[in-house]
Amino acid sequence: MKILLHACCGPCTIYPLKILRSKGYEVTAYFFNPNIHPFREFERRIEAMEQVAKEFNLPVVWDCEYGLYKWLEIIKTDFEPKLRCKKCYTLRIENTAKEAATRGFDAFTSTLLYSKYQDHKGICDRAIEAAKKYNVEFYYYDFREGWKEGIEESIAMGIYRQPYCGCIFSEYERYIKRAKRLQERLEKQNP
Ligand code: SF4
Repeated sequence: MKILLHACCGPCTIYPLKILRSKGYEVTAYFFNPNIHPFREFERRIEAMEQVAKEFNLPVVWDCEYGLYKWLEIIKTDFEPKLRCKKCYTLRIENTAKEAATRGFDAFTSTLLYSKYQDHKGICDRAIEAAKKYNVEFYYYDFREGWKEGIEESIAMGIYRQPYCGCIFSEYERYIKRAKRLQERLEKQNP
């Protein structure tokens, strides 16, 4: 059985890959993440993915146009996390299902199901819809069980681990408190 594994990044690929191979799947990764900004971050995550692919002898389909504008066109003004993440999942999962169907894979799944920080059910719902739309099986597994193991392995490998989900909005949410502290500190010094 051949499966296409949507890979959001290198560190999150390690545990799902291990599980899928243990189930007898022949795994190919699919890197399609136009949600990662800015470009230097996008590049670093690609480099980490390359490192994982090399270490685990994992073939990767690279669909890696730096898609800032295309992604923003899809999100439009739905800046709130619930709205924008739903659109972001749909974009990435639908492309994965389409790619799996086009390339003759038996099934597809995603490393997004490994994250403790993502909307697990929302991702599943998008994947079930995409499976129907493209007539290809969605393989569900709750990879979150291996959260700790995957982190430890990625740290041991010394690969880059990102500090935020991917989009400019998630970067803002990650650092806004720090930005406010900086602003307060400097504005106190105003003459
Ligand atoms: S927080 Fe993550 S999943 Fe949500 S829109 Fe941003 S990149 Fe996509």
